[in-house]
Amino acid sequence: MTAPLIDPFQRRIDYLRVSVTDRCDFRCVYCMSEDMTFLPKKELLTLEELDRMCSAFVKMGVEKLRITGGEPLVRRNIMTFFRAMSRHLESGALKELTLTTNGSQLHRFAQDLYDCGVRRVNISLDTIDEDKFAKITRWGALKNVLRGIDAAQAAGLRVKINAVALKGINEPELIQITQWCAERDMDLTWIEVMPMGDLGNEDRLDQYWSLKDLRKSLAEHYTLNELEERTGGPARYVQLQETGQKIGFITPLTHNFCESCNRVRLTCTGQLYMCLGQEDDADLRSALRGSESDRPLEEAIRAAIRLKPKGHDFDYSRQAVDGQMSRHMSHTGG
Ligand code: SAM
Ligand code: SF4
Repeated sequence: MTAPLIDPFQRRIDYLRVSVTDRCDFRCVYCMSEDMTFLPKKELLTLEELDRMCSAFVKMGVEKLRITGGEPLVRRNIMTFFRAMSRHLESGALKELTLTTNGSQLHRFAQDLYDCGVRRVNISLDTIDEDKFAKITRWGALKNVLRGIDAAQAAGLRVKINAVALKGINEPELIQITQWCAERDMDLTWIEVMPMGDLGNEDRLDQYWSLKDLRKSLAEHYTLNELEERTGGPARYVQLQETGQKIGFITPLTHNFCESCNRVRLTCTGQLYMCLGQEDDADLRSALRGSESDRPLEEAIRAAIRLKPKGHDFDYSRQAVDGQMSRHMSHTGG
């Protein structure tokens, strides 16, 4: 271990989210356009480079790794990478290895993931209606995701469902989805839709369903007990008295939690984003590829952390997307 990563605002950075691919087998309307152009393969970090990169962060005190994408489970031989990371769990340096997935391939990998030390998985699922699911994801089939959830639970993985709140789309399903998750002993987190990238076809403000409104609707059916729990991210939690279930609300557009932000995001091309809401990034790939020694990479990581901003720039207050990001969520992994 070397000195921990502390940013200029005295926040300790111990959580790294890593996008391992920009590709995906879905084309969710709020995330990608239908005719996405993906990066040439040589731009991507190889699995060995991802290992070197993540291991450098672990050495500098990162205790939680979340693997994301694109869809992480469509990256070829991704289990090699998970297996490599499991050595840091075994050594005790890493406390948690986890992933966010659309679930489509999970039935193939659930047991392997468990065997690599993964204990929890976030599965993104916005609707439990087959037709709506096909419309939102364009290329996805609900039955594959349900099969993935079954496989994950059978393997002993704890499942949390992440749903993007979409006005008029999954709005009528709020109670049904909540009950479905309760029956399967799954926590549920709602995410406010973010204005990401230029998707060409969809107007995200049309889909925008504020979590304040969602919460109000939920409170008409359940008793919401506020939980103190904080994860250093933009999520708040309540517990439903009637079901005991934990419900999360992620409002990435509010500034409330920047002061406790403990995370940075690595793209599949080795750029480090110090804040989800700002465009500033640091090129770690050059440092990594430029030397066989990890020294320059570690210096580049420390230099990047020194640039972590205090907070982000989104502004939804006038229902205008002033802070619209030019990059897609599939690039930074959400
Ligand atoms: N493919 C995986 C999945 O869907 O879980 C991992 C990557 S995906 C980019 C990570 C999360 O970002 C998903 O939960 C997805 O719903 C969310 N997401 C994508 N675009 C979004 C947007 N414009 N606003 C809010 N959440 C978004
Ligand atoms: Fe793929 Fe996830 Fe984006 Fe949907 S949200 S298109 S599953 S990366």
